[in-house]
Amino acid sequence: MVKNRFTLIYMVWMSAFLGLFCTGCTAMSDSVSSPDGKIQVAFSLTDEGKPVYSVRMDNKEVLKPSPLGLVRNDQSFAEKLTLANVFKTETVRDQYDMLLGKKKHCRYQANRKVFTLKNPQGGAMQVIFQVSNDGVAFRYAFPDKSDKTCSVTREQTGFAFDAETVSWLHPMQPGQSGWSRTQPSYEEHYAIEQPVGKPSPMKEGWSFPALFKTPDNVWVLLCDTDVDGQYCATRLAHDSTGGIYHIAFPHPKEHRGEQDPVSPEIQLPFVSPWRIIVIGRTLSPVIESTLMTDVALPSILNEANFVKPGKAAWHWLRYSDESSTLPVAEQFLDFAAKMKWQYILIDANWDNNIGYEKMADFVQKAKTKNVDVILWYNSNGPWNDAPMSPKNRMHEKSVRREEFARLQKMGVKGVKVDFFGGDKQATMQLYIELFKDAADFGIMVNCHGATIPRGWQRTYPNLVSMEAVKGMEYCTFDQRNADLQAQHCTVLPFTRNAIGSMDFTPIVFNPRIRGVRLKTTLAFELALSVVFESGVQHFGLVPEEFELMPEYVVKFLQTVPAAWDTTRFVDGYPGQYVVIARKSGDTWTIAGINGTNDKKSISLDLSFIPDNASGTLITDGADRTFSQKLLEKSALRKATIEMQPRGGFVIIVNP
Ligand code: CA
Repeated sequence: MVKNRFTLIYMVWMSAFLGLFCTGCTAMSDSVSSPDGKIQVAFSLTDEGKPVYSVRMDNKEVLKPSPLGLVRNDQSFAEKLTLANVFKTETVRDQYDMLLGKKKHCRYQANRKVFTLKNPQGGAMQVIFQVSNDGVAFRYAFPDKSDKTCSVTREQTGFAFDAETVSWLHPMQPGQSGWSRTQPSYEEHYAIEQPVGKPSPMKEGWSFPALFKTPDNVWVLLCDTDVDGQYCATRLAHDSTGGIYHIAFPHPKEHRGEQDPVSPEIQLPFVSPWRIIVIGRTLSPVIESTLMTDVALPSILNEANFVKPGKAAWHWLRYSDESSTLPVAEQFLDFAAKMKWQYILIDANWDNNIGYEKMADFVQKAKTKNVDVILWYNSNGPWNDAPMSPKNRMHEKSVRREEFARLQKMGVKGVKVDFFGGDKQATMQLYIELFKDAADFGIMVNCHGATIPRGWQRTYPNLVSMEAVKGMEYCTFDQRNADLQAQHCTVLPFTRNAIGSMDFTPIVFNPRIRGVRLKTTLAFELALSVVFESGVQHFGLVPEEFELMPEYVVKFLQTVPAAWDTTRFVDGYPGQYVVIARKSGDTWTIAGINGTNDKKSISLDLSFIPDNASGTLITDGADRTFSQKLLEKSALRKATIEMQPRGGFVIIVNP
């Protein structure tokens, strides 16, 4: 059965008829806790009838009383509200498998509580909370039926932090700004460990996900998820005076500008996307939580066997737009085959430089070497001026389906679609239609110049990755980005990559690229293959760099998984260093990077690995070389690792 949001609403209504709601509905304040009792959400109405909620963990304040409410073009649900009923707390349980990402088998358990509010016109709005041991999810619903369409003009939703809280935030970019009007593309450096309340540098607020640390050292990660074509993606507003961050809508110029409204147009009954608050006394939940997909709609694909995580060779990072030629493609195909990578990505302008016919032959040749082909596309429409082609093949449904049918016939397995530039409802609809249409033809999708994945990798498992990061390409564009790379990379696992696959396009071993000198070490770069998660991991390496790799590094890159059974936070601090352990089959791989300019010595707690396991450590040797060392079981369990300035390491645990 294809589940949709109306099924969910139906379930809410049925539980009302079954008498699950309580009778003492005059109470002005109520609460719901996580299954382990550690996280508590309190909900109440103010004297003016404004809904507010607050969050505590282990009795420490996480969020102060924070505003809730939506304003529609026809009615307001932001004040003068009364509590119509409170449903009894229900237990919600779910489990599901992911084809890619940080965890294969995901389990979810939460306590769910629904508050129904009425405005003076008699209109009803529900606030739905689900509290799990790793955080809080909440959403709004309008349960009433109506034939007419209305729009949500404003969200009152906010997150009120103590003024002493610090934040790691990504500045949002204005609509249709930047190179060829391709922004927003979520490609900025984070403002690292800043006091809350600071306005954003580009006056457009801050994009999700947003990381905070309260004065009691409680970590909080905010995001929106399960965004569908009924709503827009959201952000945190520019003004956060006093540490109160409000949800804001996209910039008016995004997508086709005035032709596409900022306010999402909705049909009733309606449920909004979820807003999630991952909460932890340590950084473990931030790295390990699957809340983004736990509350997202289950897969709607009938068949997803064609989705295969893997690694890809890619020519563009080193050789840029004019390198999508047959001779370059042939070289990288040989390289991919030698590295036992599953894919080769041919980037922009392949249609002009190679052409469809020769590409079809190339795809067949690649298959004889066990390599599949991914092709680049411009998302187009009138929302960008990027000249690269193929153009005008992705934004109109009939053309797009025709193109996917052609690609399927050619044997192409994936597309990389670039330059979306927006978060409006119209762009959300484009993404979702693109995922669905591609799935119909057995095509995997990777979006660049894009928004963040908002729970979609569960609903549309053929979405293998999204960019939405200041990735490796920026480190090749100018020296300042290369200088900041090491620190930037230690923020991403706790922020952008914590909420979904991230196509950073890691690993360059040559210290010079496009006139820029990279500041990271060889082992730092190698570790990114594990520290960063992407369903298809596109490496920045080029065939010449094969010579820079000892045999054990070649073997590591041949065998390192692109999708994981499970993921564990080992150690780290955003902006300084990070160590992550990931398991695939029986093998744990542990990887760390140092974002600072000083040597860093860390003692690892690896008590989660099997008692008798030994390991192989790959780290930096002298003078830009690798070194390899066997760690016997005692040395492994109490491993002390010294990372070079902007260095890193990888440990492969032998089961
Ligand atoms: Ca980009």
